[in-house]
Amino acid sequence: MIQIDKNRPIHIIINPHSGYGGQGLVLAGVSATLREAGFDVIEYTTRAAEDATRYAREIVGHAGLAIVWGGDGTVNEVVNGLTGTDVPILACPAGTENLLAKELRISLNPAEILKCVRHGRVSECDVGRVNGRNFMSIIGVGFDGEVVRRLANVRTGHISHLSYFWPLWRTFWEHDFPQMRITTDGEEIFDDFGLAFVGNISRYSVGLRICRDALYDDGLLDLVVFHCHEQGSLMLHAAWTLLRMHPLKGNVIYRRLRKVRVETAKPVPTQIDGDVGPNTPIEVSVAPQRIKLLLPAPPTMKGIWPWKGGDVV
Ligand SMILES: [Mg+2]
Repeated sequence: MIQIDKNRPIHIIINPHSGYGGQGLVLAGVSATLREAGFDVIEYTTRAAEDATRYAREIVGHAGLAIVWGGDGTVNEVVNGLTGTDVPILACPAGTENLLAKELRISLNPAEILKCVRHGRVSECDVGRVNGRNFMSIIGVGFDGEVVRRLANVRTGHISHLSYFWPLWRTFWEHDFPQMRITTDGEEIFDDFGLAFVGNISRYSVGLRICRDALYDDGLLDLVVFHCHEQGSLMLHAAWTLLRMHPLKGNVIYRRLRKVRVETAKPVPTQIDGDVGPNTPIEVSVAPQRIKLLLPAPPTMKGIWPWKGGDVV
């Protein structure tokens, strides 16, 4: 089992604008807990976009671990700096959605984070690549790209789930589902109206598991295409996705692949790990280099069963 290099400092990369805010006290608790346990902790607070990527590149070679204190967008920036290096990432759920942290079952509790740093295992994981930029969780083409673009236009700082309401509502009524041509390895697999997702993890916003069967370390990305022309069919797709039965539907494509290209008649917005991505056309692939993620140690029998001395979870 690979573990982090405990002789090197732990860098905490903090995005002060992530999520709801108000997690400063928890962060102070994490730093104090790690320092009391004998770790050398260095905190870095980002001030602008791309700061996290630049800082992550600077610590390569002399960091034991990069703790990301932010949401999926901040994780994305740090992944862009650390892919292919020897510095593992611990993604803390300090943002709004925290898809990756939830997928990896990482807690915000200082004692749990210390336990993870001490006993967690480092795993080599896939990174997706879209038009030359890395992503870690999921990208969306069309509908949710439009929602994220609308939110970004009005966002001023911290956001909550409620912040998505109006962008989602307006997009729902105003969105023109684009005609998409999707090809993989030279084979055309879709040429119709709809919305598409390419994911490295199963989780998506509001508890939906769009890329239901995605595994972050299998060397493949999961493509999901919903054939959709109007709001009614989008609602039906959402209902089947909620039931996690959408891959079984005839008007849904669910595939695992290494490379895919999405073109549209007119450019449409995309979202990458919850932030605004490039407009179509997009080329998506599995990056040749992987990222090291620190994962919590699997629960032991002792941890599960209170009568064997463990905690009740
Ligand atoms: Mg995968």
